[in-house]
Amino acid sequence: MPAFASSGDLEEKQQTLEIVGDGVYALTAEGDPNVGAIEADDFLVCFEAMATPTAARQWLARLREHTDKPIRYLVLSHYHAVRVLGASAFGADVIVSHANTRALIEERGQQDWESEYGRMPRLFKDPGSIPGLTLPTLTFTDRLAIDLGGGRFLELHHLGRGHTEGDIVAWLPDERILFAGDLVEARAALYTGDAFHREWSTTTLDRVAALGARTLIGGRGPVTREVVAAIGQTRDFLEVMLREVGAAHRRGGTLKEAFDAAHAALAPRYGGWPIFEHCLPFNVSRLWDELDGVERPVIWTAERDRAVWDLLQS
Ligand SMILES: [Zn+2]
Repeated sequence: MPAFASSGDLEEKQQTLEIVGDGVYALTAEGDPNVGAIEADDFLVCFEAMATPTAARQWLARLREHTDKPIRYLVLSHYHAVRVLGASAFGADVIVSHANTRALIEERGQQDWESEYGRMPRLFKDPGSIPGLTLPTLTFTDRLAIDLGGGRFLELHHLGRGHTEGDIVAWLPDERILFAGDLVEARAALYTGDAFHREWSTTTLDRVAALGARTLIGGRGPVTREVVAAIGQTRDFLEVMLREVGAAHRRGGTLKEAFDAAHAALAPRYGGWPIFEHCLPFNVSRLWDELDGVERPVIWTAERDRAVWDLLQS
């Protein structure tokens, strides 16, 4: 049996800081979670917080080679632990998220922390540096614009449910740069264990595409200018899962049969991408629930993670 989730992935990834626009920064890391920052006239907006304050401080040290503006806003694209638990390192005046993200952190943040720590221990650099759960201080449900000065705005949009029920994207309309969170991945596998597959693969991705981004920073993978292709790959991954798991579900098959069918159909195109093997058992389990009519994703716990893994990746 392969090592549980990403627990066997202990090799440090190369981080690349890319200036993708005037005062717009993206830090990517060979498939590890991406982060970014946007300069306003006299402050910074940071996008995503990493898994621990120690990991976040390493990112901020690199950012500080380019700008010493104070961090006014920290924007969290969704509630997952590896995106939020480094928040305290930013010292931001305001931590922004969708209202559902705040509610999810309150409802299941502790379980998600323990689950993700077990799945991806390497990302939790110095786990003792985490002071506790992160609670956003400013939430919205639809759209929020941050005035960057000089007539520029950073728009935060909720485009529908997708990777979670509280995803937001950060959009710079003048530069046509999109920080998509985990709604779009670029040459990295999708994690859909807390997802709404049918909504994500249709209306939500339609709205992402309609923005017309020229540069896209996905949740994982390199910065891409092939935006249509990246959105297309994300949609294809979801559609293949829906087709294969849906067929097994309709004919009264088992979860294991659904997993094997989805794996066989996805592996030729996506099997070599980061976290593919790690994610797929959790993805298929959630999609099966979704097809059973379970509206909200069941809370993942360290114990449930192991049970699903042992059932499917064996
Ligand atoms: Zn996520």
